[in-house]
Order: sequence, then C-alpha cells, then structure tokens
Amino acid sequence: MNEEQKKALALAFNEAIKYRQEVGKQSPVPRARADDLRKAFGGGVPEKGRAGEVVIRELAEKAAPGLLGLNSPKFFAWVMGPSHPIGVAADWLTSMWGQNAGNYFCSPSAAIVEEVAGKWLLQLLDLPTISSVGFVTGATMANFTGILAGRHAVLQKVGWNVEEKGLFGAPDVNVIIGEEAHATVFSALQFAGLGRERVIKIPADGNARMEVKGCLKALENCQGPTLLILQAGQINSGDFDPFSEIIPKAHEKGAWVHIDGAFGLWARISPALKGMTTGVEDADSFSVDGHKWLQTPYDCGYAICRHPEVHAKAMTIAASYLPVEDFPDPSHFVPELSRRARGFATWAMIKHLGREGIRDLIEKHVRLAKHFAKLLALVEGVEVLNTVVLNQFVVRFGDEDQLTKRVIEEVLKDGTCFVRGALWQGKWIMRISVITGPTEEQDIRESAEAILKAWAKVKAL
Ligand SMILES: *Cc1c(COP(=O)(O)O)cnc(C)c1O
Repeated sequence: MNEEQKKALALAFNEAIKYRQEVGKQSPVPRARADDLRKAFGGGVPEKGRAGEVVIRELAEKAAPGLLGLNSPKFFAWVMGPSHPIGVAADWLTSMWGQNAGNYFCSPSAAIVEEVAGKWLLQLLDLPTISSVGFVTGATMANFTGILAGRHAVLQKVGWNVEEKGLFGAPDVNVIIGEEAHATVFSALQFAGLGRERVIKIPADGNARMEVKGCLKALENCQGPTLLILQAGQINSGDFDPFSEIIPKAHEKGAWVHIDGAFGLWARISPALKGMTTGVEDADSFSVDGHKWLQTPYDCGYAICRHPEVHAKAMTIAASYLPVEDFPDPSHFVPELSRRARGFATWAMIKHLGREGIRDLIEKHVRLAKHFAKLLALVEGVEVLNTVVLNQFVVRFGDEDQLTKRVIEEVLKDGTCFVRGALWQGKWIMRISVITGPTEEQDIRESAEAILKAWAKVKAL
C-alpha cells in the first residue's frame, strides 16, 4: 500500500469519526434534494484518475447533505438500526481484509466466525441449537431462504424435487399467511415462484396478530404441501402471532412453519418480554436481522433453519471447483456465492454488548416506546391506535388522513426528529419505532414536544 492510499484511509477514518460525533447534535432530516445531489455527484465520466485522498474528501463533502440521521437518537421512522461503532470497526477490518466468505477455503476465519456467531445467536434467541444459520443481507433474504427451505421440504414429502424440476407440473403448494405480514415476505413468495397473490390470507385482530380460528380453519381445509408464515414483531404494532395455538396444529397437518422475526425475535433475550413469543421455537425456519436490534452495520440478517440438511439442499451451489468437504461452507445456506464476511461484525457486537447489554438495550427501547406513546396520547386529538407491547406504535392526529400527513410534514420541517407515515388498517398514521441504541428519555421528551407542536400548528390552520 502506498502513501497516497494510506492518506485516503486516514482521511476516511477522520471523516467517519467526525460524522458520528456530530450526528447526534444535528437534525436527522437530510438537507439535500435529489437534484442537488445529482448536481454534486454528477458530471461526465472521469477520463483521468485522481488522487485517492481528493476523491475521498470530495465524497465525504458531497454526501453529507444527503445523509439521513439513522444513527441519531431522534430517528424513529421505519425499523432500522444505527450501525454501532464497534460493529463498524469490525466491518472496516472486514473490508480491508477483503475476504470472500463464500466457503471455508476462501476464508477459514470468516467461515468459523460465522459458525461461532451463529451458535451464539441460537443461544441468545433460544432457538433450536441444532439449527443452521445463513448470514444474509437482511430479513428479506432470510425470509426468501426460509421459504425456499420450506418449499423443498413440503414438495420432497410428495416426491417432487423442486430444485431440479422447478415448479412446472409440481403439486400445488398452499401458502397461508397473515394479512398483516411484512411486504418483504410477499416479495420472498414472489421470488420463490409461489406468487404474491396466490396465498390464503388470514385476518388479524386489532393489534395485527393473526386470528387463530381463521388460521386453524385454513389449515384444516388445506390438502397436500403447505407453508404457513407467521410473524414475531409486526411492523406497526410490534405484536406477535399466537404461536403456541397455531404451530402444533400446523405440524399435525405436515405444514412447514416459517417465522418472520426481523426485529421481534430479539424480544426472546428479555425474560420480561419472552412470554409473548412462547411456542415460536417450534417453527421450522426463522428470519432475524442483525442490522436492526443488534445494531450491526448494514447489511446483516440471519436465515435460521432447524433442519440443516433441508436448508442446505434448498441453497447449495454445486460447482467442480468448489470443494465439497466436511467444512462449514457458508454458501450452502444463503442465496449467494461471493459474499461479504458478515460474521465478523455480528461476532464483535455480541462480544461487545454481551447478553446483558443486548437485553438492556431492548428493554430500554420498549420502555421508551411506551413512554413516548403516553406523552403523545395525553393531548386531545392524538390517538395511539395499537396496544404498545414492544418498541413500535402507530399514532393518528385528528380524524382525517390529511391531518396526520400534515403533522408529519411539519415535524420534518421543524427537524428535531425524523418520523414517517404508513397505512394502518386503512388509516394514515405516523409510525414510531424506537430501536436506535443511543436514544434516551430526553430524546423522547424533546421529540414528543416537537410532534405535539406540529399538531398544534396543523390544528390551528
Ligand atoms: C425490516 C423487516 C423486514 C425486511 O428486512 P430487511 O432487513 O429490510 O431485508 C421483514 N420483516 C419485518 C417484520 C421487518 O421489520
């Protein structure tokens, strides 16, 4: 490595530290618009190269106005994680090591660290310890992987090899899913050739939990291969499907049960919250995110399957130059071959926070979300529409969608905190997610004040 490259790296290091020191003091709302950014980054294709340091300085300057304060303690939109600095430190090393974590021989350390961190995850989440764990880009790919494993298992049982023959001429696969399932589960069904619409949708109750009666009836009516998809942590209410009332019945019918647990499965680390997830451990496959509640840098998710051989059969890439040995080859459990060594950041975050640290973080966020909801609901015309059981809640202002939309606009204009809207049971709402590590009570208080000020402004118009 030459001096110029070292300078570019040092500059990146300093800029990164500066950014993270400032981000908590600034508005999380990006200042730039798409056209400003196009102008800043654009221009013709560079014909001649430039010094690395110059390029990195330009990148840092130009990107700054268009960065969203995901790691700000006043970021509450969507369920996203803030890339914890210790995870980032591990990730810097990962990038500099430049490992391809596809298989053991490409990077023994990457493969073994995924093996170890995977086992830790199973213990922390109290999921079947025999499970295989694929380190993927996020819950979308983890859902995809779980659904492919399920597709393999239910079709194999009726003598159909879906990996070799595909779905043309295959026996029908029933898919049962809750009407409040996350959009990316439907994407996963779309990718898997099972269709987004060709599903049996089960209604949900007022807190977005699947209705048991409807689900059991659908299971009864299904003949042949069946996938059932449940969720731990609904995106709006944070609530959990009634696992123990459904999963045993689904297994009696020979169905495969997949759990979308992107953030909610982390509740299992807290003795106080774990009760809400009872019975989930009996499912066949699970998706969990690292880049949400574990605070690892993007991207990082886990595809967990209690039947490792099924998991591997659904995902294995076979090529003559890829040694098939008795080694843990990560690519047998994910949809990719060349891949980022995501295990390092996961390993570092678990080591850094420890079981206690992760538990405290999750319990703090749940406490703060409940407090936040209470502060808002004190004011007339403001209604929290769900029972707050985890870190998520939905709040509506007045009785028209337009009013809530305008409150969100005003909040973003004010810039104290970052929130966005969504549709909840046919109504436009502001969705609050408390999931950023450094968020404390003062951030909640100041953000609640800003939101209520916006509401007062909209009401007065
Ligand atoms: C975030 C989320 C997903 C999608 O996960 P990505 O990490 O964005 O791929 C799926 N399901 C739920 C419940 C989520 O919260």
